[in-house]
Amino acid sequence: MAIARPVRALALTGVVLWCFFIWQLFKPTGSPRGPGKIEILPRERDPNLDPTGEPEGVLTYASEEYAPGPAGTARINATLLALVRNEELDGMLQSMRDLESTWNHKFNYPWTFFNDVPFTEEFKQRTQAETRAECRYELIPKEHWEMPSWINNDLFAESTRILKEKEVQYADKVSYHQMCRWNSGLFYKHPALAETQYYWRVEPNVHFFCDIDYDVFRYMRDNNKTYGFTINLYDSPDSIPTLWPETVKFVNEHPEYVHEHNAMNWLTDKTRRPSHNEKANGYSTCHFWSNFEIGDMSFWRSKAYEDYFNHLDRAGGFFYERWGDAPVHSIALGLFEDKHRIHWFRDIGYQHIPFFNCPNSPKCKGCVTGRFTDGENWLHNEDCRPNWFKFVSMG
Ligand code: GDP
Ligand code: MN
Repeated sequence: MAIARPVRALALTGVVLWCFFIWQLFKPTGSPRGPGKIEILPRERDPNLDPTGEPEGVLTYASEEYAPGPAGTARINATLLALVRNEELDGMLQSMRDLESTWNHKFNYPWTFFNDVPFTEEFKQRTQAETRAECRYELIPKEHWEMPSWINNDLFAESTRILKEKEVQYADKVSYHQMCRWNSGLFYKHPALAETQYYWRVEPNVHFFCDIDYDVFRYMRDNNKTYGFTINLYDSPDSIPTLWPETVKFVNEHPEYVHEHNAMNWLTDKTRRPSHNEKANGYSTCHFWSNFEIGDMSFWRSKAYEDYFNHLDRAGGFFYERWGDAPVHSIALGLFEDKHRIHWFRDIGYQHIPFFNCPNSPKCKGCVTGRFTDGENWLHNEDCRPNWFKFVSMG
């Protein structure tokens, strides 16, 4: 029996469509989509899936000696530190609630808030109401915040235009450049911190998920740590094209500052994400994500870092490019500090949108164990923790 030609054509179309549908379902997933050139990076198993406890080493637990006020004799010279705007009050309260409930209500370390304009009464009252610890409110001196005199306004405007074309985030916001510069080389020079050695940087709108029962500042001191981080990311190479070349110039002038146990191979890796290294002219762009940092300010106050920061500041890249405090801090630590003094706080569950550090521990709630991001799939590309683990350690 002959089948009419239109029916045959229809059947054929049906088969073709069906094949196309099946192919769509099962085709290789291909590259994740993301801004710029698409690359596929390997996704290693997240070590946060492994059970996580407290770090090894000397730990000090809460006691009456951490009571608020003068009774708190066990506290060391340290503060929780936040640069924040009055408009970010709600976000700040959220971050405080998380950090107070998981950690600081046991230790009562003071909070120090910084702003380039005075804090409002409402800001002061409502933040103080979140903690039994002392809160300090500090104004940043103009000379620490303003664009330095050697920055040329026309050149800044023109550079900004180019950065915008390359879709560098915040490139045209002067205050963002000022913030990055302040966080890089000025915060620890504020007179209010003159007597303070350790800090824990906290941003508005971040989350802390895990109970921490030991004094993290004493952990830093007693275990000879300089810097602690939770997340390690690649940076946008377009924001820092001359940061590494300027660094190389500086190091050539000051080879004596480079530590024998440096993390140069982590800084200069070009196997895992070669295009980033190429665009950043020799720097992998891998950095400690500095919205979280627990640090010893003695490092920033050292001659090596002071000279390095001044060199960078004079070079102008905080304005002509968009150098962030994260790559600046990370490069300095990777070159001038003993890499063994840098600690991954794997036990501190943390989120700053869109990334997490979420360990496998009964002490954590509210995050998904081992989840790095809840954003789009391509964001997994930004994870460069595997390089830190490969070249340095997980400890
Ligand atoms: P992102 O995390 O890179 O997207 O940048 P944020 O907008 O979170 O800024 C980083 C930190 O600097 C946050 O703690 C902000 O509250 C703070 N910050 C940024 N710009 C300013 C500013 O102009 N004034 C003040 N006082 N704080 C700022
Ligand atoms: Mn932020």
